[in-house]
Parts: sequence; structure tokens; C-alpha cells
Amino acid sequence: MTPDDERLLRQAIGLAATARAAGEPPFGSLLTGPDGEVLAEEHNTSIGDRDITAHPELKLARWAARELAPEVAAATTMYTSCQPCGMCAGAIERSGLGRVVYALSTEQLTPLKPPVTAPPVRLDGPALPDEARAVVEGYYM
Ligand SMILES: [Zn+2]
Repeated sequence: MTPDDERLLRQAIGLAATARAAGEPPFGSLLTGPDGEVLAEEHNTSIGDRDITAHPELKLARWAARELAPEVAAATTMYTSCQPCGMCAGAIERSGLGRVVYALSTEQLTPLKPPVTAPPVRLDGPALPDEARAVVEGYYM
């Protein structure tokens, strides 16, 4: 962790504070390019957007995948106020970002949030694998 990392992480925490002040969940993130310049920044807007996926990390990962060449994306760093959730971690992996630096870990965040009350989703399958495979087979080759 360099002094620049800490400065940019504080900027991400500032975006989280901005989100909270706007009535949104308190999470913020930014993306820097290879030279440390800020390319984009976001905060959580899941209340205002009525969108459960409006996490800043996911929005930045989608932006990077859409707007950056793969080699540029690989040279970026995401600074984020909290460790990305599973949804965002998957999007970050698919977007090809090079590095993520976070302030608060999931383990440190969990006691600050209400307990999860939703029951786990029932996952049934595999089913009809031959029919589903026929649609996919050959697509990637
Ligand atoms: Zn997330």
C-alpha cells in the first residue's frame, strides 16, 4: 500500500460519504488508469435507481468493459470503500480489471449491517442438459 493508494482509497471513502449524504447506501469506488489518473468514479445508487445491482464496483466494471481496451483495463486499479460483494467480484473478474484495493473488508462490514433475513434461493439442476448443451456447443470454437 503506497501513499497514492491511501489517497485514492480516501477519495473512494469520500464517494461513500457522498452517497450516504444523498440518502443512498454508503459505498463509493473509483477507477484509475495506468498512470494513476482517475478514469471514472461512482457511488451506490440502488435506492434512487430502484436497482439492486447499482453498486459502484459493478457500474465501474461495466464501464471499463464497454469503454476500455482489454490491455488498458488490465492496467487499471479500482479503489473501493468496501470489499466488493460476490456480484461485483464476478463482474470485476469478467471486466478484466488489473487490481482492486478496498478499505473495509466484508468481515468488518458485516457487523455494521442488519442480518440477512431472506431464505437461501433454491437451486435445481442440472436438467435437460442435452438440449441446453446443443445450443451452446460450438459457439466458443
Ligand atoms: Zn457489490
